[in-house]
Amino acid sequence: MEKKTAVAAGTMLPLMEAFYTIQGEGTFSGTPAYFIRLGGCDVGCVWCDVKASWEAAKWPVLPIEEIVEGALQYPGRLVVITGGEPLMYNLDPLTRLLKENGFTTNIETSGAHPFSGDFDWVCFSPKKFKTPHPSIYAVADELKVVVFHKSDFNFAEKHAVLVRENCRKLLQPEWSKSDLFINSIIDYVKSHPNWKVSLQTHKFMEIP
Ligand code: SF4
Repeated sequence: MEKKTAVAAGTMLPLMEAFYTIQGEGTFSGTPAYFIRLGGCDVGCVWCDVKASWEAAKWPVLPIEEIVEGALQYPGRLVVITGGEPLMYNLDPLTRLLKENGFTTNIETSGAHPFSGDFDWVCFSPKKFKTPHPSIYAVADELKVVVFHKSDFNFAEKHAVLVRENCRKLLQPEWSKSDLFINSIIDYVKSHPNWKVSLQTHKFMEIP
């Protein structure tokens, strides 16, 4: 199959990097996980800390068997698919293969593209720079809003009314603005107890 057709089918995907580490943020914080970072993102967050991921063509396009083989080299059986924006691709074949190999599958997404894949946990982190696709709201297990500006509290509530009732709601200071916003996040969560604080603990641990 031609590479372009294989990417469209989700049987080959552009891989920016893959590494075994500790999930630093959100509900699975502290859990060892193999991260699969797909190349390509059209969201354009000004504060993005992986801008190198944006251009998909920069990254090698690999068969999903090779990607899963990489994950199998480590003892942990949690995989986090991230990006870039991973939902730019059809994730059905990759997640199917991961599950056949005994992995728990998590995704980190801005929800900017139609949902695909068989995931055990969907972390939906909407961004102001590109409106989420409506398919994300019924499947999100976790709504994680990055706070970069004081208007982000309203932005968070706008999405909170659209997700399922049992979806976890997390507010996370953008790393460079942590000092500026951590106190208002703490106050907000104390007065709106349906929200929790999420921190990028991997950055404190100085791991990827
Ligand atoms: S969605 Fe993620 S990868 Fe894309 S620009 Fe925003 S932070 Fe960066």
